[in-house]
Amino acid sequence: MTSLEIKNLDVSFGARKVLDNLSFSLNSGEIAALLGPSGCGKTTLLRSIAGLIQPDTGTIRFGKQLVSLSSLSLPAHKRKIGYVPQEGALFPHLNIAENIAFGIDRSAFTKEQIKQTVKEMLVLIDLVGLDNRMPNELSGGQQTRVALARALAVKPAMILLDEPFSALDAHLRAELRTDVINLLRSQKTTAILVTHDREEALVSSDVIALMRDGKIMQQGSPEQVYSFPTSATTAMSTGDTLVLQAKRLSNGDTSYLFNSNQSDSKVLESGEIIIRPEEIKISRDLSSDKVKGEITKIDFYGHDAMVEISVANELVQVRIPGPLSFVAGEKVSLEHVGPIRFFAKADSGPAQ
Ligand code: ATP
Repeated sequence: MTSLEIKNLDVSFGARKVLDNLSFSLNSGEIAALLGPSGCGKTTLLRSIAGLIQPDTGTIRFGKQLVSLSSLSLPAHKRKIGYVPQEGALFPHLNIAENIAFGIDRSAFTKEQIKQTVKEMLVLIDLVGLDNRMPNELSGGQQTRVALARALAVKPAMILLDEPFSALDAHLRAELRTDVINLLRSQKTTAILVTHDREEALVSSDVIALMRDGKIMQQGSPEQVYSFPTSATTAMSTGDTLVLQAKRLSNGDTSYLFNSNQSDSKVLESGEIIIRPEEIKISRDLSSDKVKGEITKIDFYGHDAMVEISVANELVQVRIPGPLSFVAGEKVSLEHVGPIRFFAKADSGPAQ
């Protein structure tokens, strides 16, 4: 397995720049989740790493080896990348054993060695005995496992998974994801998992890279990226987010919906504050010093509930753990118990 270092990568299709001065790195054996909206360039990045696209500028290194530098490019088949494309893409006319063996270099291994590798892979993906089945005789989850085994069978330097679970229903998806991640970890595989799903990214990875418009906006551990977003946009990429107008004051305080009694202090700059719904506590204590509001809606999810509360002119989303103890229409007080994440507006300047 190898580390990965990408520096200043540009890829354009015609006049359209799809990767824009993109840099990203990953240690050997780490699993990264690449999270971003449709069309932001996730697949293009994977294809560039795999050698299926030649970037215009920038460098890609596997460990110390330079595999891509504008004119120079190591061909895809020499990069030892295991690529699991969207929807598995097994060869329909080959049985499971033949699919798994497909990428193995026949000049480097004997028939017996290849047979042994296939056997090991079937054990690894828990499909022993299904060697002779055809892909259309397998469930969606089983097909994804075979696609992963085909990628692992070549003893790759790195595995790239392009939304491998997107065709599966929610329950099967979570189960298979756990199996696949455990499998990758047991093999100490360096891997990149592309996903649209923020929970999938948080739960599966050592590193999350948040991508938008061909750039990595923020990279870090799931906890860092969730708890210390660098902007409202990155916060929204990893979870539900409340964005409130705020002012930074000369006394060091921040004035916002939940802390507005700062009339003597001078405003240094205006901006916004970012709050996670689980960082607001609600109670029935309606004493005069409390911020108060009225519950307008409750979405009950079993393990928790999202409560919408009308406060002043804002609608505030609050996550409370189950079982449910409030009802719509009730008056409650609210308290912000999380960190103050203040982001100044670029053009705010000293305000009055
Ligand atoms: P999704 O999540 O929907 O799969 P993505 O983030 O993987 O999207 P890409 O597939 O990398 O996005 O595509 C990024 C942009 O580049 C899109 O606007 C797409 O239409 C465009 N694009 C991708 N491949 C090509 C190509 N071969 N020729 C021209 N445009 C392309």
